[in-house]
Amino acid sequence: LDPRLVSARASVISPRMTLLIIRDVTEQERLDQMRRDFVANTSHELKTPVGAVTLLAEAIESAADDPAQVRIFAARISAEASRLGQLTGRIMSLSRLQADDGLGDVRPVAIDEVIAASIEAHVVQADSAGVDLARGGDRDVWVRGDAQILIEAIGNLVANAIVYSPKGSRVGIGVRADGDIVEIAVSDQGIGIAEADRERIFERFYRADEARSRRTGGTGLGLSIVKHAIQRHGGEVLLWSRPGRGSTFTVRLPRIDSPVSGDVKKEKKR
Ligand code: ADP
Repeated sequence: LDPRLVSARASVISPRMTLLIIRDVTEQERLDQMRRDFVANTSHELKTPVGAVTLLAEAIESAADDPAQVRIFAARISAEASRLGQLTGRIMSLSRLQADDGLGDVRPVAIDEVIAASIEAHVVQADSAGVDLARGGDRDVWVRGDAQILIEAIGNLVANAIVYSPKGSRVGIGVRADGDIVEIAVSDQGIGIAEADRERIFERFYRADEARSRRTGGTGLGLSIVKHAIQRHGGEVLLWSRPGRGSTFTVRLPRIDSPVSGDVKKEKKR
């Protein structure tokens, strides 16, 4: 036995009897290690923009006589600050999702609402990347969950699909109701994901292409949030990808009857 992985406690009950309790702490040790890694990675990720802001502020001080330079440095401070904002927002989302009470306001949610809001949040990004967003598939499909968290999860998939796609390509967001399951597929015609990276990209801070992801403002937390958010809703995320051709992330969630029309029941009877 590895002594680090068991905890033992001995209690003397009588001169001839001792109670020995041995507990397997492998899982506990693994969780503690994950927490330590998370704190270490988070501090490392935060240090970069904080360091940049400090240096830029000093540069502004010494360039006080040159308004053009000051404007350039100020704009970079603002960019670093917005990156810090995005990073802290994502870290907060992730720790909320990992807490015991991971979901907030749980109610029947229309997938139409989730898709519309996820697209709405990324039209400007899609426009400036020259990527076409197309929504298709079934309407009036419902799930039970936290709408804001679902919007953030699907939004992260849409954002990634845009980032890793070439200009002039299309990102599709398709909905399919299949009995008690709803599938939301976000597919792109982008760079794709190598087989060796497919498991790991759902890990916190993992980036398949570190340099590219940083350049495009990536945090390495987006897919980890997606995975936790969907698991919290009793669902799963599947990935299909072909390097150089594109990727499809499919979210599968338990479906509920439409609280408005009761369509699901009618459909099932047929
Ligand atoms: P990031 O903020 O870096 O995009 P994510 O957790 O969202 O972090 O994604 C992790 C990594 O997975 C990315 O750095 C990228 O390498 C890869 N990835 C995610 N989505 C896609 C996609 N649609 N196409 C290609 N690669 C992707």
